Amino acid sequence: SRRFGALLWTAEPPERHSLLQALGPEPFDATFSSIYLYQRAQGHTSAVKTFIMDNRIVVGVGNIYANEALFAAGISPLRPVDRLTEAECDRLVVAIREILTEAIRQGGTTLRDFIGGDGEPGYFQQSLRVYGRHGLPCAACGQPIHRCRIGQRATYHCPRCQS
Ligand code: ZN
Repeated sequence: SRRFGALLWTAEPPERHSLLQALGPEPFDATFSSIYLYQRAQGHTSAVKTFIMDNRIVVGVGNIYANEALFAAGISPLRPVDRLTEAECDRLVVAIREILTEAIRQGGTTLRDFIGGDGEPGYFQQSLRVYGRHGLPCAACGQPIHRCRIGQRATYHCPRCQS
């Protein structure tokens, strides 16, 4: 099973706890900038999608939102992250914030039985442009959406719109 949270008691300052001290910034924090992402990426050859889902780089970018943000930024999820230009890092930071803002506004993404704290399902699944859409036409260009696995996670992208 997958665990998404924990409640821990600590007598030390919480930010110094071993589970928290190595975490990267929040996506909406000013320190999560294109320069930050570009500099952290240097020397890392992992796929950009894996990189932005790494909590040590930035927290809170889950699989669905990583797929959608990379589509919005026009960047292939398979690209080695140290090959991104500063301009691409800038597009990606903007796209992550936009996708998360819209998903939060719509109450999250209900794939099966997710219910938010207000008892309502999320509605962002109606805004998904690549996630879960393999074989369906890309909303931008009509080409079929591709599906593959990166780091054990389902990955969707448009081979024409994302390079
Ligand atoms: Zn496309």
